[in-house]
Amino acid sequence: MRDDENLTTERATFVTNLECSATGARYAADELHNLSRERKPLLVRYDLAGIKKALTKDALARRPRDLWRYRELLPVRRARHIVSLGEPVTPIMAMPRLAKTLKATEILVKDESRLPTGSFKARGLAMAVSMAKALGVAHMAMPTNGNAGAALAAFASRAGIKTTVFCPEDTPEVNVREIALQGATVYQVNGLIDDCGKIVAEGAAKVGWFDTSTLKEPYRIEGKKTMGLELAEQLGWDVPDVILYPTGGGTGLIGMWKAFAELEAIGFLGAKRPRMVAVQAAGCAPIVGAFDAGEEHAPRWQDAHTIASGIRVPQAIGDFLILRAVRASGGFAIAVPDDAITAAIDEVAREEGLLLCPEGGATYAALKQALADGRIRREERVMLFNCATGLKYPLPPLHRPLDRLKPIDFAAL
Ligand SMILES: *Cc1c(COP(=O)(O)O)cnc(C)c1O
Repeated sequence: MRDDENLTTERATFVTNLECSATGARYAADELHNLSRERKPLLVRYDLAGIKKALTKDALARRPRDLWRYRELLPVRRARHIVSLGEPVTPIMAMPRLAKTLKATEILVKDESRLPTGSFKARGLAMAVSMAKALGVAHMAMPTNGNAGAALAAFASRAGIKTTVFCPEDTPEVNVREIALQGATVYQVNGLIDDCGKIVAEGAAKVGWFDTSTLKEPYRIEGKKTMGLELAEQLGWDVPDVILYPTGGGTGLIGMWKAFAELEAIGFLGAKRPRMVAVQAAGCAPIVGAFDAGEEHAPRWQDAHTIASGIRVPQAIGDFLILRAVRASGGFAIAVPDDAITAAIDEVAREEGLLLCPEGGATYAALKQALADGRIRREERVMLFNCATGLKYPLPPLHRPLDRLKPIDFAAL
């Protein structure tokens, strides 16, 4: 049985208010919100002093091994509003063979492929859909490169909420089909994800859809924040020296940075932070451009293209939050070409048996590049993120037939 009596009282999650990420202005909790008046993302704030008194590491250790174990630091107030497809704590896998080859001390992979719908978008959408259910939303809409739409469709169908989803026309077929199969109405748009986002914004204004775009909705980031809570707990309340994160909208990177601050405030972590590295594809690297230029915002990237569709985001509304976290952590932003991503997937699958998605492959390619140019040192403990199962992406073709009716030269096989 779930140990969730705390969740049944109004005090349970310690949410105090929402806050504009640009101005710090306060917004009421328990009301529907999208962006702040300044059209910036809203962040959820908690009574961290209250959590510090109420939660111990020991109590936490006894709870079920899923995302909801961090309920004091999550926005859902009542257990009956939780919409769940079973969100396990994802494993951290070491890659000892590749570490040896690269003469690196330790390379870890947080393998998010084990989540419902096969990607870490499930973390954010479990939270967003639960909050939508709590606040009485009837119809959610979203632009997606694939994985977020699939997670929205699955969780919303489970909650009995209608969904309309827009993806770029070249979104992998498997994503489009799983979105449709899981109950959403899905359209293939002749444009990129931000073009799809404009359609959602217009529909929200005209017919009242709830806009579930990442960071235009305040709770997806709280779901993705659990990656930071989880990895710190898994490492015995410690953090790695470096985290390489495949960055599209940047929700996960911003969310983990928020998680570490909250864990320090409740006394679970010290002041040590990982260096946060934003990894992008060379064919769509707005954050890398802005980081190198010392800018706070990143202009829209023209002609975005990459096989890593999850990070094909030409413009991110949280660009300034990504850049702030990366800079405050002493990290950097780095772009890798698609052929390096393909080679990385191949190498990791052959050497370590982990079938990474292209975005996950990008983090390994970035690690190799950064070890070579000295931006990451060999003695640093490194964590990569594999954000989806490689099985959701086109795999390299193979044709090797065997005629069983002819003699087989076994020595040559
Ligand atoms: C969405 C996505 C990303 C990017 O995540 P953000 O937190 O939005 O930057 C990376 N990889 C995969 C597989 C994704 O689906």
